[in-house]
Amino acid sequence: MHCLRCGRAIEPGQKSVALYMFAQTVGVKPRQKSTAHRISFCPQCSVSLAMGPAPEGALNVAAWDMIRDLVAGDPALNRAAWESLNGVVGLLPATGTEGRSRTSQAEGYFEF
Ligand SMILES: [Zn+2]
Repeated sequence: MHCLRCGRAIEPGQKSVALYMFAQTVGVKPRQKSTAHRISFCPQCSVSLAMGPAPEGALNVAAWDMIRDLVAGDPALNRAAWESLNGVVGLLPATGTEGRSRTSQAEGYFEF
């Protein structure tokens, strides 16, 4: 499962927003129903989409409205987005100096 917007992998049980979509005939016999599709968005993209301007296209606007409902309804999704953003920032070195100092130590070793 991947986020439709950024392509990031979403593991089972990981925080995300899932949109389920299926089509069904109405007033037509026999009644037909398409297979259900699941579309996922990571918390960051969900919040980003909800905060952004309305997209183009009736289906996109319908999905955007639903995501906005979730983001506006409770701060839990915003918190999840903030936590994963914080996690990504924590993995990156604050500056490039950490890597550079390690290299100079290695050079020092070889010089001795
Ligand atoms: Zn995403």
